[in-house]
Amino acid sequence: MRTPAWTEDELVLAGALVVKNGWRELRTGDPEVHELSELLRSLPIHSAEALALPGFRSPDSVSRKTTDFATNHPQYGGAATRCGKPTRLMIDALISREAEMLQAAQAIEEGIGSGELHSIPPQTEEVDETGAIAIEGRLLVRRALARERDPKLRKLKIEQMRRRGRPLSCEVCDFNFAHAYGELGEGYIEVHHVTPLHVSGPRETKLDDLACLCANCHRMCHRSRPGTTWRTPASLRALVRKSTQSALHPVAPTSAS
Ligand SMILES: [Zn+2]
Ligand SMILES: [Zn+2]
Repeated sequence: MRTPAWTEDELVLAGALVVKNGWRELRTGDPEVHELSELLRSLPIHSAEALALPGFRSPDSVSRKTTDFATNHPQYGGAATRCGKPTRLMIDALISREAEMLQAAQAIEEGIGSGELHSIPPQTEEVDETGAIAIEGRLLVRRALARERDPKLRKLKIEQMRRRGRPLSCEVCDFNFAHAYGELGEGYIEVHHVTPLHVSGPRETKLDDLACLCANCHRMCHRSRPGTTWRTPASLRALVRKSTQSALHPVAPTSAS
């Protein structure tokens, strides 16, 4: 067995360590490197076979990964080490969305520390249509998927909508199951966790972190494509608006119009 490539979760954790170290590499002897090595080996995503490989996520390999992060930063002056595309994508994400990615790293650490992330079984939608692992933190995606399938949370969200006097319509396209299907659609709506990276306490989901969506919009929020997964309802709404506009105006409008 070859050493499995670093997963998105692991890259977030290693990248966060480098960011906190001012984008400098960390040496093998550094206690933080040893801590991260232990954390990575404890993530519930590795097979026993992988864990038995010599040097798997050892302090050496963790230190080497921090070198990849530091030397592939666009502002690094010297020669960059060779690293894969996922590491480079993570560097981009850490530069453009630093706070969000640090929050994701913290959420993984807390979820592992509390044992919560160990207790959630793998969810069916963690892989994209081609079978590849979804690009965002896999364990956080797993947790968000589990939460949005929780019948209790779904019930509470629907009750909240009713209390607020809001119809059970899709927040993106306004589709209403009861209007379309009559009695059969009464009370039906799908519940979507707005972003898997959002942390609102280790074991609770705030109802406002959940959105009500029709089945189509929900699918499109989850559709995985390289570099992007898990759209928020707001970003999907923007996409819908853009594609409706370009359908209405196939040629760019002139400034005179
Ligand atoms: Zn919809
Ligand atoms: Zn969802």
